[in-house]
Amino acid sequence: MEFKLIKNIDKYLANNFPRLGINKKREVKRLLFEIAKRDNLKIDDIACLCGKDALRQMDKKILSFKQIKTFLLKNRYPTVYKRHEKNIFYLPALNISKELEFKPSKFKYEPRYIYIEKKSLQSELAEKIGKLFPSAKFEPIENIKNHIKEHKYTLKDYSLRHENLFVINENYDFFKKCPCAKSVVRCGYYVLNLGFGCPFECSYCFLQEYQNFSGIALPSNIDDFLNNLAVKLTLPPAYAPRGVSNDTQASGRVKSFKGLWRIGSGEFSDSLALDNISDYSKKIVPFFAKYPNAYFEFKTKSSEIKNLLNIKPAKNIIVSWSVNPQKIADLNEFYSASLAERINSAKQCADAGYGIGFHFDPIIYYKGWEKDYQQIVELIFSKISRDKIHWISLGTLRFNPELKKIIENRFPSSKILDEELIIDFGGKMRYPDYLRTDIYLKMTKFLQQADFEKEKIYLCMENSNTWNKVGLNLNKN
Ligand code: SF4
Repeated sequence: MEFKLIKNIDKYLANNFPRLGINKKREVKRLLFEIAKRDNLKIDDIACLCGKDALRQMDKKILSFKQIKTFLLKNRYPTVYKRHEKNIFYLPALNISKELEFKPSKFKYEPRYIYIEKKSLQSELAEKIGKLFPSAKFEPIENIKNHIKEHKYTLKDYSLRHENLFVINENYDFFKKCPCAKSVVRCGYYVLNLGFGCPFECSYCFLQEYQNFSGIALPSNIDDFLNNLAVKLTLPPAYAPRGVSNDTQASGRVKSFKGLWRIGSGEFSDSLALDNISDYSKKIVPFFAKYPNAYFEFKTKSSEIKNLLNIKPAKNIIVSWSVNPQKIADLNEFYSASLAERINSAKQCADAGYGIGFHFDPIIYYKGWEKDYQQIVELIFSKISRDKIHWISLGTLRFNPELKKIIENRFPSSKILDEELIIDFGGKMRYPDYLRTDIYLKMTKFLQQADFEKEKIYLCMENSNTWNKVGLNLNKN
């Protein structure tokens, strides 16, 4: 539908407004496209969008380009336009290529090419992968960096990343502070870099913009990661939450965290999606059981919990699921487990003795979102006892502006870009502040109505202003 629509808009602009300059045409074209896509309009409707004959009047210089642009912006951003400055709209050139569209297929993770770094050739992981995928083509490589330089992957290859599996030996990038964006309240989280690349396909995933190769990389030397961590965990964390409360100590530490480490994988991959291959959980759980001064979190959208259920759980291991209404998942979270499967997996892990977390992140806004999200809250608490749930985070959709072009190319049927997203703090595209605050207030209300303590709720990648407006306190949460 999108390609036909763009063709029609091009034809319409060329026939009726031949004198419009390139940049003006680019903006009018983008606005017409976004409005028509959102409202499901046809080309004849587009001609009437700006009022009868308005575009023609612009061409005859009866109306200025500025007046027409205002007209279109007011239509495209009806609530934001009245309340915000006018330079927050991101209107890049519209370049959509059929070649980039992601086409879902029946999914089974089965890489065709397996590249193994020389240092990993004798590893347990390489041996297991050899047995699991005997028909794949195996190739030893010096290291993944050289391979990436030689292959020059582009966005076109991104959808093929489940075909390439890399077994690597990570030498130094084991552990880092969670890469918080500028101006957000940081939660003092650390990331254990266990793998890069994800077999799932979420329309909003930042990896589409960030990942520079087509494949999934799994480190074979997890023992080095854990040895490295063992040294760090003998001390309290140096990186602490920073944010909104008056109780924050001069050092920047927050009293109530009492020196506990909060560590997780799942920043550059899904923590459990490939756990049946990597077996990382089998080493991580017994390792962290020895460090009660740390929480370790597996973040996932999968139902890959077999290993976890077969080993002795530890209280400080939190298994958490990111959740969205099924109708959002259907169009934006391909190949991951369904909402029901995620919640059932959470129940099984809770029953086995693990701590549980949930991330309403990203929350996608649409008309009537409240009912669907409240139903998820009710479903969670109908299955899992409150005291098993250690935390629930809330984070509305946000992304770097560049990702907008990738989403509209790879997921043309997704509706997530149709709402009013503007360039906001940290240079990211977000819903406007009043909408985000409203969403967080309602979500906190739903959670409190389900008797979930407010202190266990936190906001992800939000500024202190919003924390305050929602009445959450980082020291206590
Ligand atoms: S599960 Fe996470 S890492 Fe994987 S595609 Fe979705 S957003 Fe990206």
